[in-house]
Amino acid sequence: MEKREIEVAVAKYLEQKGYERMALKAAMFDMDGVLFDSMKNHAKCWHETMAHFGLDLPEWEAYMHEGRTGAGTINIVSIRQRGHEATEEEIHNIYKYKSDLFNQCPKAERMPGAYELLCKVKASGVMPMVVTGSGQVTLLERLNRNFPDVFRKELMVTAFDVQYGKPNPEPYLMGMEKARKWMDRNGRDGKIGNAGKLQPWNFVVVENAPLGVQAGVAAGVFTIAVNTGPLPDDALLSQGANLLFHSMQEFCDEWENVFSELSA
Ligand code: CA
Repeated sequence: MEKREIEVAVAKYLEQKGYERMALKAAMFDMDGVLFDSMKNHAKCWHETMAHFGLDLPEWEAYMHEGRTGAGTINIVSIRQRGHEATEEEIHNIYKYKSDLFNQCPKAERMPGAYELLCKVKASGVMPMVVTGSGQVTLLERLNRNFPDVFRKELMVTAFDVQYGKPNPEPYLMGMEKARKWMDRNGRDGKIGNAGKLQPWNFVVVENAPLGVQAGVAAGVFTIAVNTGPLPDDALLSQGANLLFHSMQEFCDEWENVFSELSA
């Protein structure tokens, strides 16, 4: 990517929002499809599960629904194919089948380039955060095992924290709130230079899914899409992504340029 392209994207964001400048202090990373290469398994399991119950959800379409609740995804397919929502019992059975199938899949690998990028982010003085719809109980342990010394429990938003989930901006708004609280306790009284408390221009969102991009944009944060799946770039750009990379490795290689444009 040309450095100029990043410059233009930042200028456009600032103009839209009426902000003077970016001053990056924290980066909010989505987890599945960003930090872990887990979406292939999810998509495959969704497809096989739906087929088992006589419903049709192609693997590529599962990527369009990434971030939706299980019930939400099941109902979209049910209404499309049968003209009505699934019953609660059906939803329970379908989602259980999918979860069991997913748990039999081999554990997803770290996304190539993700750890290197996180190390660069941290070394730049930017706080890495995780904002995920996932509710695995072993989440922090798994993150710490794969990304040692990067994340803190206080700087994570998971399924347990939120009511609505993506594409609602709630998870990212909550991420910003957690960062503010953490800064209040630990960093220069929560004050960021002359800018006062942490504001949207102190953050970026990193997302791989259309609904996740939608959530980041709705939260008013500069949103970087990383297209790690099979969808066309436009599926992410049309949701308002400010910048797009085709892999975490590409983002990692460009970090110095991105950071220099996003810091004051
Ligand atoms: Ca994701």
